[in-house]
Amino acid sequence: MDTKRLIVFGGIIAAIVIGMSFFSPKLQIKQESIASPVVSVSTFSLYEVARAVAGETLEIHPIIPLGTDAHMFSPNPKQVSGITESALFIYNGAGFETWAENLKQTLPKTTQVIDMSQKVALIKSEGHGEHDQGEEHHHGMYDPHYWLDIDNMIKMTQILESEFSKLSPANAELYHGNAAAYIGKLQKLKSEYTAGLAECKNRTLITNHDAFGYLAKANHLENVSVIGLSSDEQPSAKNIADIINLVKEHGVKTIFFEEFINDNVSQTIARETGAKAQSLQPLENISEDELKSHQTYLTIMDENLKKLREAMECR
Ligand SMILES: [Zn+2]
Ligand SMILES: [Zn+2]
Repeated sequence: MDTKRLIVFGGIIAAIVIGMSFFSPKLQIKQESIASPVVSVSTFSLYEVARAVAGETLEIHPIIPLGTDAHMFSPNPKQVSGITESALFIYNGAGFETWAENLKQTLPKTTQVIDMSQKVALIKSEGHGEHDQGEEHHHGMYDPHYWLDIDNMIKMTQILESEFSKLSPANAELYHGNAAAYIGKLQKLKSEYTAGLAECKNRTLITNHDAFGYLAKANHLENVSVIGLSSDEQPSAKNIADIINLVKEHGVKTIFFEEFINDNVSQTIARETGAKAQSLQPLENISEDELKSHQTYLTIMDENLKKLREAMECR
């Protein structure tokens, strides 16, 4: 081999080596984008909105197990590591998940965090039902049940459209279409509520825990709860006596309770007053049966509207 050939040969080898090192990172990036990014979501409303926007393009992992009281949840080590491995962690905020506030400090830089309560319209919690002084509180300055205001669900859909588009820009157009379709359904639901609760004999909504403040405010209902904003609060004797009086005075026909939450006091009030005890789903979580029968935020809110219309004798 003469010198000239050696140089040409050497040049080819160098080009191959440089070429390999140049192209291999690109190949790796391409492979990574084939596996769907994982998005961990805490509450059911976030799970529903995330699935509606993402379709099949992202892996949406719900954190809180089905059919449990979401107020009482905190993640075990396995659930924490699942969150740590996700590209995006979205939680309700406004004091709903105290565990999330601590956890987010420990998450790696590869897990982006969204506190959805920072993006929606909140109601202050100061006006909620009385409870005994010195009682331990599990809620903050704002009422965390904001998903029961349909306008907030619309806002949440818009936020996730924009966040998912950043996470997976190639799917931005799909996300835009999915978000628009879901928002259309929410707007239809909202107008059904407005029309369905426009003319009612009774506008007093009595619930077990104070989950329906947003729904009441959006639909001009008087909202009274037996216990406070969190499901672990204990009602005061005075509060119970006041509610019994209110039920009798206003001729309230129905006391609502929630499936996953202790409802002894609501049942007692119903018995005392002769009112009917009826379940109302606050959508903090759904049961396995509800999920299996393809129930969604939309179908359950429809069901809730029927129960409200019957209880309040709406036209
Ligand atoms: Zn609640
Ligand atoms: Zn309270």
